[in-house]
Amino acid sequence: MKEQIETLRNELRQHNYNYYVMDKPTISDYDFDMKLKELQKLEEQFPEYHDPTSPTLRVGGTVTKNFNTVVHNQRMYSLDNSYSKDDLEDWEKRIQRILGDAKVEFTCELKYDGASINLTYEEGRLIRAVTRGDGTQGDEVTTNIKTINSVPLQLKGDYPPKFDIRGEIVLPFEGFAKMNAQRIENGEEPYMNPRNTASGSLKLQDSALVAQRPLDCLLYGIVGRDIGIESQWQMLQKARDWGFKVPSVAKLCKTTDEVMAFVEHWDVHRHDLPYETDGVVIKVNNLQQQEELGHTSKSPRWAMAYKFKAEQVSTVLNEITYQVGRTGAITPVANLEPVLLAGTTVKRASLHNADQIAKFDIREGDTVYVEKGGEIIPKIMGVDFSKRPASSEPTRYIEQCPECHTSLIRSEGDAKHYCTNYYGCPTQITGRIQHYISRKAMDIEGMGSETVTLLFKEGLITNYADLYRLTKEQVMPLERMAEKSAENLIEGVAESTKIPFERVLFALGIRFVGETVAKKLAKAYKNIDALMNASEEELISVDEIGERIAQSVVEFFRNDTNRIIIERLKAYGLQFSLSEEQLENQTDIIKGMTIVVSGVFETMSRDELKKLIENNGGKVGSSISSKTTYLVAGDKMGPSKRTKAEKLGVPIISEQDFLSML
Ligand code: AMP
Ligand code: ZN
Repeated sequence: MKEQIETLRNELRQHNYNYYVMDKPTISDYDFDMKLKELQKLEEQFPEYHDPTSPTLRVGGTVTKNFNTVVHNQRMYSLDNSYSKDDLEDWEKRIQRILGDAKVEFTCELKYDGASINLTYEEGRLIRAVTRGDGTQGDEVTTNIKTINSVPLQLKGDYPPKFDIRGEIVLPFEGFAKMNAQRIENGEEPYMNPRNTASGSLKLQDSALVAQRPLDCLLYGIVGRDIGIESQWQMLQKARDWGFKVPSVAKLCKTTDEVMAFVEHWDVHRHDLPYETDGVVIKVNNLQQQEELGHTSKSPRWAMAYKFKAEQVSTVLNEITYQVGRTGAITPVANLEPVLLAGTTVKRASLHNADQIAKFDIREGDTVYVEKGGEIIPKIMGVDFSKRPASSEPTRYIEQCPECHTSLIRSEGDAKHYCTNYYGCPTQITGRIQHYISRKAMDIEGMGSETVTLLFKEGLITNYADLYRLTKEQVMPLERMAEKSAENLIEGVAESTKIPFERVLFALGIRFVGETVAKKLAKAYKNIDALMNASEEELISVDEIGERIAQSVVEFFRNDTNRIIIERLKAYGLQFSLSEEQLENQTDIIKGMTIVVSGVFETMSRDELKKLIENNGGKVGSSISSKTTYLVAGDKMGPSKRTKAEKLGVPIISEQDFLSML
């Protein structure tokens, strides 16, 4: 019986592959369904032969209440963007500067527009699927991903025992249109565009619903150690061999001219593809060279996205209004006559600042060009002057805050005007609290931006410390609140006292202190008292902290109101120092050293090695210079790195040498 079940599974796997990956079915849908039903029946009868990669699992059914957060083995980076041949040539020059005169080839692939996913395979079986999240960690959505037919649950061929593979979950146009037709028939609102629907699908709690959506998974990159692949081109082929869906639209190019020809062709023909794309991704083909080029803090140096020309439409600008941000920054907003653009209805567009308005001479009543690239927020690209009404008047930028009427200030070097009524301007007050509770900051469940506005209007909170003394009785009478939601809110606030120090620091909303800077500061100072006492000079000496950030931090902590709020937060039990665990793994042993790593290592991955350098007080250098203290050389180190190190007299040490230093 076991054999019979296994044979049936293999047969269905093959049909599944033929249909969803190769697009070449060899049996009818009816026959397929019959075989699937038969397998389902047998599996029910013989549960002892359960297999987590069985084709029957594609129909879903498991409900996930909370998706686990999982840290990626290797960070999922963004891509740098380019828009012209010049941009590409500049990029090529930067590459050649690092690689010397080594010959460089490029693999061109389409940039699939959906939701990124990282799939982990062990012994040929899909064991985990994680969304990109913030690049460092994402949500585990394995049960949902298993329902996508083109994702192999069991690989074939000579796959390595363990690796991660990355790709994009997309919703092809045709399936999207069908879904919407169905929704309209059911009297539901149609979805806006395939991309958002695809990424929303991944977080549905009921995997049976995901199974019903015609999602597809297109793969583009394998990550893992010692998997015996030498080039991006070969990687794509290998992934195909193992059963993944890797679009055949890709080209190996020897010159930028060839790359441009590929881009220009697909800029036009992308509309013939079954799914949405927003550009071309160009990658240095040789993995050894990729390794040598490495990453910046945001993106790999060896890859570049070429964005297709954005779609553009024109529409009338009805009114310019002004928004006040949580730091007091003023952003002018164009309120447009609604217009359909790249699948979404656009009503508003950011005008950025006064200079932007002046540059294009944008006025109310103008017909303007609106464009949407990969970004979510549409941009105004110019004015159709032929349609300017005779009565038109130049825009006069506001001089007072639209919320509190304080005179606006624009300091030298600032692009924006600011309302300086930091503690009295209602929008700034609520904006700060909204930032505090947001997902990447304190992630307070049971509370949204609107609740903050309501609580403030009712006079229940005027800063984020006030959140911690809210009671259920105060919250319940609010609009759209009930006993349960009020309880959830109070509980969510209490839970936030467990959020680690670096996120609390980010949540405080100090100008210029984003997530990464908050992490750096937390690591460098270890607790809030040390940070509060730091001078501007001391702060600047911290790696990657510049004058602007240092000034802002000092200013923030000098302010009495802020100090009082922090004292209160301390009393409520928030985390204002690194945890024992974080501290334990940190030393100053190699403080002041800048270390470059290159090659493949024996006892750990390159990222682990880099983390070790940072945790022990060192700085990871990206390329060799006279400031480099050591080059840690692994196996297959890039030859140009060695030459450069030798030329500059930078000592080259082994992984073992480095470890014994610690
Ligand atoms: P961005 O988010 O615009 O910086 O672009 C990076 C994202 O592009 C990655 O997270 C990928 O999910 C996505 N992407 C789509 N197609 C490709 C491709 N062929 N190669 C690499 N990344 C791709
Ligand atoms: Zn104001």
